Amino acid sequence: MSVSEFLRDKKCEFCGADARTVLFGRILCESDDCIEKARLNHVCMGKMLKESDKSR
Ligand SMILES: [Zn+2]
Repeated sequence: MSVSEFLRDKKCEFCGADARTVLFGRILCESDDCIEKARLNHVCMGKMLKESDKSR
């Protein structure tokens, strides 16, 4: 299955527009805003995971 088939009936996780791509484990449209949100979110999650590792 191609990515475009996978995305055909999907919506952007941030703005609800038609999905165009998958980045940082998120389904996204091609808006720079949404990509930036996904990127920031990803960084935050990475930080949280690292910090929980430290406390172990
Ligand atoms: Zn979007």
